[in-house]
Amino acid sequence: MSDLYDDIMMDHIKNARNYRNLNDPTRHAEGINPLCGDRFSLFVRLDRDIISDLGFQCECCGISMASASMMTELLKGKSKSEADLAIDEFKKFITGNTQRFRYGGDLHAVFKTLAKFPSRVNCASLGWKTLEAALDGKTEVTV
Ligand code: ZN
Repeated sequence: MSDLYDDIMMDHIKNARNYRNLNDPTRHAEGINPLCGDRFSLFVRLDRDIISDLGFQCECCGISMASASMMTELLKGKSKSEADLAIDEFKKFITGNTQRFRYGGDLHAVFKTLAKFPSRVNCASLGWKTLEAALDGKTEVTV
C-alpha cells in the first residue's frame, strides 16, 4: 500500500472524511465501477440549492476512497451549481481534457497517483460521478 499511495492519500483512506450514512438525505445514488469492483453509496442533503450535508460509504479501493473523501470536504456547503462546475472540471482534468483544475488542495495527491496508474481514472472519478448522478436526481450510475 505505502508504495502505491503517499501520506495524503493514506490519511484520506484511513480517516475518510464524511464516511457515513445521512439520516435524512434528500438524494441518494449508488455508483458502480465494474472494472475494479468499487461500489459506492452516496448521500446528499440539499437545502434549497446548497449541499448542506454529504456522506458516502463504499466497498472500494484506496484511490476511489481517497478521491471521494477529498470531494466531500471540497463540496460540502457549496451550491449545486458550484458542485456541478467542480465535478465537470475534475472529470475533464483527469481525462486530460483541460490543463486547469481550480480546486487543488489534497486532490493533487490523487492526480499524482493517477499519473503513475492512469488506468485507475474510473476509480478516482467514481465518487464524483455518483454525486453528479445524485444531484441530477438519478439513483444509480455505472462508470
Ligand atoms: Zn477502484
